Order: sequence, then structure tokens, then C-alpha cells
Amino acid sequence: MRQRGGLRLFHLALSIGMCWIWVETGFGFDAKHSDRNRLPASVVFNGPSTSNKIALTFDACPGTEVTFDREVIHALERTGTPATLFLSGKWMERFPEATRELAKNPMWELGFHGHAHYDLTSPNVSQKLFEREFDSGARVFKRLTGKDPKLFRPPYATVDRKIALAAEKRGLLTIEYDIASGDPDPKLSKRALVENVVSRAKPGSIIIFHMNGKGKHTARALPEIIQRLKARGFEFVTVSELNVDRAPAASRPTPPVSHTSETP
Ligand SMILES: [Zn+2]
Repeated sequence: MRQRGGLRLFHLALSIGMCWIWVETGFGFDAKHSDRNRLPASVVFNGPSTSNKIALTFDACPGTEVTFDREVIHALERTGTPATLFLSGKWMERFPEATRELAKNPMWELGFHGHAHYDLTSPNVSQKLFEREFDSGARVFKRLTGKDPKLFRPPYATVDRKIALAAEKRGLLTIEYDIASGDPDPKLSKRALVENVVSRAKPGSIIIFHMNGKGKHTARALPEIIQRLKARGFEFVTVSELNVDRAPAASRPTPPVSHTSETP
């Protein structure tokens, strides 16, 4: 009986574990894009699969504990790897000098990542907050970089038709991703992070990482990720250089492995 009880407990734990994985990983991710066929063409998940180009992207989400992970930038600089950085309004307000510096360096393409990082698909976000997420973020972007943003990554990378059309109205392409590095997951080791990205990257991929200190191993994983993908013949470019505006209909994203794709 003790054994059977143990088995039941094991099954219960397994069920709970499976539910957690279901919510936190691919199924949860796909659920966010359940009406993907209804999304306008201004939402981009990846570039054309006909070239060997890949875009690394780094989100600077705001939050009380966030910082600026300069080591991520140093790793990219040391390896001569261009990237697209998505900066939230509140992050830019907290790091105005860093934002100005990043804007001056032609290696970086800057996009914006909302303002306060509200989940814009949430019914709890009022219309006023919804608009502010776009307009306050874009205003800070303009003030600190001197330019209007052209690329938008929604907070938590959640998108629906309303968000995409609001972005479009403001002249923005909405940039999603097809590969989630999983770097905010504290349980993901450096080794697992490297393998997760290297094994799943494909031509035209847009890969999401973080540069706000939430990715514990991001900076240390980058040199190996970059070196191994280069050895496979990939070239690193910014999102715009992927020719995303001419990308064919996006393929279904590869579900993330075992992590939330985007956390603040
Ligand atoms: Zn974010």
C-alpha cells in the first residue's frame, strides 16, 4: 500500500509538473498567438528562410530589480556581432546615458518595447494605459535617441490583432520571434541555453534574449552561440537587414523548451 500511495503521489506530481510545463512553454506561447492567421502582415516572426541570415534581439524590460547588463553588449562588441535592442520607456528613463550611447553605435538597431511593460492583451489594461504604453515609450525613445522608433516588440512579446493594428497606425512593424532563448529562466544553465539556441536556430530566425540582467547566463553564453552558428554558415544581421518587410508568410514558431519566453 505504501508503494501504491507513493506511486499515486508520483503521478500527482507528474500531472502538476506537466500542467506547469504546458502553461510555461510552447503551448502557453502558442495560445498567445492563437488567432495568428488574423494578424496583419506587419507582425513579423522571422525573416525569409532563403538566406543564411539570423537576427539576435535583446529586450530591455523595466522592473524594480532590472539593470543594464553591459556584459551582453561587450560580448556582442568583442565578437563584432550586430543586434537589435528593444528598449522599454522606463528602462530608457533609468539608463538615459546608456540609451544615448547605444543609439550612437551603428552596430545596434534600436526598437522600442513599450513603456511600463503592461501585457497589452490583458482585459485589465484600460484603453488609456494601452495607448500610453505605445506613446510614452515612443516619446522617451525619440527624446533619448533622436529618432522615431520603427520597430516594436510588445511587452511579454504577446500580440493580437488590436496591438498589431495600433502599432501599424503608428508606423511600426511588430517584431516577434521564432526562437526563445529562454534566458530569463534561472533554472536554465549556460550549457542548456547555448544548446537550446544553437540546436534550434534556422535561416531567417529572430532569437529573443534579455539585456536587463534577467538573463543570468546570457553574456557568458553568447560567444559560444555566435561562434557555433557562424561555423554553420549563419550571418548575424539586424532585424531590418533580415528584409522582414519582404518576408513570406511566417512559419509556425518553434515552441520554447522549458521556460517563459519573456519575463519583465
Ligand atoms: Zn519585456
